[in-house]
Amino acid sequence: MERLHVLGTGNAAVTRCYNTCFALEKQGEYLLCDAGGGNGILHQLKLAGIGFGSIHHFIITHAHCDHLLGAVWVLRMVGTAMKGGTYQGQLHIYCHRSIIEGLTAMAKLMLPAAINAFLGDRILFHPVEDGVQEQIMGHTVTFFDIGSTKLLQYGFTLLLTGGQKLCCLGDEPYNPACARWVEGSSWLLSEAFCLYEHREIFKPYEKHHSTVMDAARLAQSLGIAHLVLWHTEDKYLDERKLLYTREARSEYSGDVYVPDDLEVISLA
Ligand SMILES: [Zn+2]
Repeated sequence: MERLHVLGTGNAAVTRCYNTCFALEKQGEYLLCDAGGGNGILHQLKLAGIGFGSIHHFIITHAHCDHLLGAVWVLRMVGTAMKGGTYQGQLHIYCHRSIIEGLTAMAKLMLPAAINAFLGDRILFHPVEDGVQEQIMGHTVTFFDIGSTKLLQYGFTLLLTGGQKLCCLGDEPYNPACARWVEGSSWLLSEAFCLYEHREIFKPYEKHHSTVMDAARLAQSLGIAHLVLWHTEDKYLDERKLLYTREARSEYSGDVYVPDDLEVISLA
């Protein structure tokens, strides 16, 4: 059975939790999805008990700094471990060509030549396009363009061992143009910037984000069984689980998860 390790739950500007990213665990191996905005990824992985030696697959949804900058640190740590002989095999990175170019340029600028030497050798990029499928840790993963008007971004679906479909929407609201990918999902990983009643405070709609109520309505209409909400503001962090869960339940009859950083969710 797979487990979802929630490494971060916040939006780009949070200071009291980490930026939204997660790792999907299967039998001690991890698929990392996004890495947050920097060196904090090292802290979160350490607290989660996830060593770099057990990460061989890494999805990057898009290039915004709260998702991509932590990837430089992942390259640094994995590259150092490769150099020191403590990392077995290869690291596979799945992302759009523009991110391959950008991350390669950042690595050249910021990391030692000995680490850069692993790019294309033991650190391998797999370009993602709309509809591209990959087999990752024994799962069929299908990437889809979420249709962002801000910056090219990819969500994905992943078939779990039990046959259920997990869908990660990235950090923007569900776009009906993606229905053919998202429909039939059991698990939906969705952004929810803030409560509906706080929309005037946090202005989610101006930023192409949605409220808990919007995400919950959508999950209800799609017949989703399990809804995970994150990429939130952190002003109400202490009450977030209670308040967000309550609002989601008013619109949605499935299971609601409003995780805190470092929570682990069983994907049964
Ligand atoms: Zn984001």
